[in-house]
Amino acid sequence: MSDDQTATSTAAGEQAIADQLRSSFQGEVIDRGHPGYDEARAVWNGLIDRRPAVIARCSGTADVVEALQVARKHRPVVSIRGGGHQVAGSGVCDDGLVIDLSAMKGIHVDPAARTARAQAGVTWGELDRETQLHGLFTPGGEISATGIAGLTLGGGLGFVMRTFGLSCDNLRSVEIVTADGEVRTVSREEEPDLFWAVRGGGRGVGVVTSFEFDLHPFGPEVAGALVLHPYENAEAVLRAWRDATLTAPETVTPEILLWSVPAEPPIPEELHRAKCVMVGGVYGGPPGESATAALAPLRDLGPPLMDLSGTMPYVTLQSANTWRFPDGERYFMKSHFMDELSDEAIRTLVDWDSRRPTPESLIVIRTLGGAVARVGGDDSAFAYRSARYNLSIDAGWRDPAMDEEAIGWARSAWDATKPFSSGGTYINFAGLGEDASELRGAAFGSHEERLERIRAAYDPEGLFARAARRP
Ligand SMILES: Cc1cc2nc3c(=O)[nH]c(=O)nc-3n(C[C@H](O)[C@H](O)[C@H](O)COP(=O)(O)OP(=O)(O)OC[C@H]3O[C@@H](n4cnc5c(N)ncnc54)[C@H](O)[C@@H]3O)c2cc1C
Repeated sequence: MSDDQTATSTAAGEQAIADQLRSSFQGEVIDRGHPGYDEARAVWNGLIDRRPAVIARCSGTADVVEALQVARKHRPVVSIRGGGHQVAGSGVCDDGLVIDLSAMKGIHVDPAARTARAQAGVTWGELDRETQLHGLFTPGGEISATGIAGLTLGGGLGFVMRTFGLSCDNLRSVEIVTADGEVRTVSREEEPDLFWAVRGGGRGVGVVTSFEFDLHPFGPEVAGALVLHPYENAEAVLRAWRDATLTAPETVTPEILLWSVPAEPPIPEELHRAKCVMVGGVYGGPPGESATAALAPLRDLGPPLMDLSGTMPYVTLQSANTWRFPDGERYFMKSHFMDELSDEAIRTLVDWDSRRPTPESLIVIRTLGGAVARVGGDDSAFAYRSARYNLSIDAGWRDPAMDEEAIGWARSAWDATKPFSSGGTYINFAGLGEDASELRGAAFGSHEERLERIRAAYDPEGLFARAARRP
């Protein structure tokens, strides 16, 4: 347990928090004695086993204001939970107050204005389902069960980011409750400092209750490349993929995964779960000849095991891998930003990948650039706009007896690939048990000082200074 998670709480203090909340709350107040306590404190990562004093499951913004009032009075450790998918489990804390937004599911799409307003408990799958009714979308993450809140507040890398930017680049405004209990709408025009912070550095400046996104015409059918390569060709495929990324147009967002063949049709059973290299790329426009031509280089990187490229509904694409990351299993992630992918970096990656502890574990390289890099470096708190790649090393396993081995593998692979990093780590992929201040420096780089000033201005008493600021 890190110092950020340490709390001094007494049974009487906990009771007072729960009682005060119950007197004013519309949502649910879940304390240690509540029959739903264990379910409510569980998050996506089964490694996390935190026992909050009270979970305030808010029904709306007024509940968030109430919860913060109680927090100001009793000063528990406060954590904020959106979709519960942060690998470090930072949405829940030990012995403190969880401001749980997961029941806040309102979504309103305005197709004429091409905007959507979504509350902080919404997941990407839920938002896409509504926006796609109108053939519109805002760029989200690659897994439908992930929360829009944490993902957007940390940046938001997605399938078509080179065309449409990060999730946070598509924010028009947010409603946020700051530590003083004030409900603010912030945008480029209103409280621009706070708006700067929530786009990539949105942990610990307040509780964002809803997000207003710009929407773009995209889907329902989208075109993508997905090619499985034999594992023995991993180095050659990685080199060819790297070369293809250097000339890829902004309409294509290439990625590559060292993973296992999915055990599902139409893939023949004899290939299921075998190690492989997966080359992917989604076209940020309508399917058709231009899409096929733009994706062609990603389909020509050597003799494949299978070429599954084609078109599919965006909502299908976006939930296609969700089943591979089930709730409650054990996970650990770490990441680097990289400006280049040298042959030596590729050899090192493949070497570490060959020691991957389970078929569920994977190494992913996503290509940035395009619309991500066009936003000015200091225009938002997201600190690594000029990086060409993000490398993430993701361990997944089931057996608690493997904890040390799996976490050790991810940490060692991260250490071994550090010499190839251009500096910085992605806050949304930050793992458990990291040194909090070191991590914040790595996640926000030169922006950390400005973020700290904004946090001090809006939270002078440090209500969010402990758990809520953690990745
Ligand atoms: C399977 C999986 C796939 C993923 N894929 C992607 C991907 O494609 N692209 C990508 O960029 N990331 C991805 N991520 C990482 C993801 O962005 C982070 O895990 C993110 O934190 C998830 O948001 P959440 O709301 O679900 O998380 P939570 O755990 O609920 O929140 C994480 C943290 O964000 C803060 N927070 C959450 N809600 C609020 C709020 N309303 N106001 C203020 N602070 C808040 C809190 O500090 C909280 O501790 C993935 C994660 C997983 C587990």
